[in-house]
Amino acid sequence: MATPNVTALAAQLRSTLKNSTVLTPDSEGYAQAIIRWSDEMEKRAGIVLYPETAEDISTAVLLSKEFSVPLAVCGGKHGSSGAASIEGGLQIDMGHMRNVSVDLSNNTAKVQGGCIWKDVDEAAAPHKLAMIGGTINHTGVAGLTLGGGYGWLTGRHGLTIDEVRAVTMVLADGRIVTASSDENQDLFWAVRGAGHCFGIAVDFTFQLHPQENPVWSGQMLFPASKDLTTVVNFANNLVATTDGASAMVMGITQPPFMQEPAVVTTVFHDGPEDEAREIFKPLLELNPKINTTKVRPYVEQNSLMNGPVDYGNRKLSKGVPFTLPLDPNFVHSLVGELKKLHSQVEGSTKSIMLFEFFHMGKVLNPWQDMAHAIRGEHGQVMIGPFWLKAEDDATVRSWAADAAVVVRGELERVNGKEVADSIGEYGNYDAFLVDPRRIFGKNLPRLAELKLKFDPENVFNRSYPLVASP
Ligand SMILES: Cc1cc2nc3c(=O)[nH]c(=O)nc-3n(C[C@H](O)[C@H](O)[C@H](O)COP(=O)(O)OP(=O)(O)OC[C@H]3O[C@@H](n4cnc5c(N)ncnc54)[C@H](O)[C@@H]3O)c2cc1C
Repeated sequence: MATPNVTALAAQLRSTLKNSTVLTPDSEGYAQAIIRWSDEMEKRAGIVLYPETAEDISTAVLLSKEFSVPLAVCGGKHGSSGAASIEGGLQIDMGHMRNVSVDLSNNTAKVQGGCIWKDVDEAAAPHKLAMIGGTINHTGVAGLTLGGGYGWLTGRHGLTIDEVRAVTMVLADGRIVTASSDENQDLFWAVRGAGHCFGIAVDFTFQLHPQENPVWSGQMLFPASKDLTTVVNFANNLVATTDGASAMVMGITQPPFMQEPAVVTTVFHDGPEDEAREIFKPLLELNPKINTTKVRPYVEQNSLMNGPVDYGNRKLSKGVPFTLPLDPNFVHSLVGELKKLHSQVEGSTKSIMLFEFFHMGKVLNPWQDMAHAIRGEHGQVMIGPFWLKAEDDATVRSWAADAAVVVRGELERVNGKEVADSIGEYGNYDAFLVDPRRIFGKNLPRLAELKLKFDPENVFNRSYPLVASP
């Protein structure tokens, strides 16, 4: 049942915003509008607004304050912390703003705040250009970019935010501003890592990179009991002996067509096939049960892993850092963690633990450069439970939190507690919205000051609390 304020705000938005779409629970399309990548994140917004322009976003922000209706913003809807959906309030869904325009005079792209990575990959490819996008192409550009952004091209070019040249933002006071190295430099610093806390991104200007040639990539699947140790040792060696052109993601999971856990590797080489086959020879020689590796245009790369992680059912992601070399015995022990979940929660066998083996050389800019603080020679384990029923939410969340402690325990065992404590967490993988000190580290005090400058009333309050409560 909508509150009087929500009803009044919906009427005001409908009469004021002639070009944007306003839905309420009785509207056609409402049920579709509140769907999220994970069903657990679906909340019944009082109003869903699909803005078409920056001006309409600005008006909506101001009206939400006037009517005291809280708001949430969503793009690709992949988040599993709940920050992008809202019970009863105003949902600003950027999904109608998905234009990408490429400027060939300087190889940049202007990308609207509702785009998913598929939009960018497909707009850049005809010009033999590419951007460091997410490894699943239905992930939202804005959510991923504002919090950091790792992808297959990270080894070559760094993080997504490293290639942001400008962001157009709607701020809490309704102003539409550009943040770049020339304008609003302090806001530009803040939005590159903590952007979700500062406003609504209308568009990004990204520096694209030449991507003339096809890549060699695909997936190979192995039985864990037989090949896990070899695959882990290979991954350690891959990062130690190759450059940023090669990368790999390794998942441990229980495929429905196998009687035992498997290791699924997604491999990538941005170079000729013979070179790639030589680098990945130790895996190819293991006779994978499935092998889809081949030469393909880069534009296909970010769709390779889409299948198992499509929308629907319940899932979350919790990232924990790891350092190399990874101990195969430790990874074997995580198979046991997955089995624990299978025994506790029916329908959870599609759960996965994903290790990202990207070269970090291009990521090692000083942490003070921008709000994103976790720059270091470490990868991320993405703990990714999958389940079916709402009644299991608490059990699964508790399992994921415990599994995160296990992975962090290994980080401490290998590096010592002091070093491990200095390695922060990746906010974009954090379904639990942990203490912001763990995400922003030494950048938190400056972020708190800027939050008070740009959003003193905490309008954008769904993500990390940057200012400590009194
Ligand atoms: C299947 C999957 C694959 C992933 N792969 C990668 C990967 O390869 N690399 C990587 O770095 N991360 C990856 N992630 C993590 C991803 O970066 C985060 O989940 C990110 O928040 C998703 O953004 P979204 O727009 O899709 O999500 P949403 O749930 O729509 O939004 C997430 C956050 O961004 C905010 N937001 C969204 N749009 C805007 C906007 N226009 N302006 C202001 N705030 C906005 C929301 O309010 C919310 O706080 C992946 C996640 C999933 C689920």
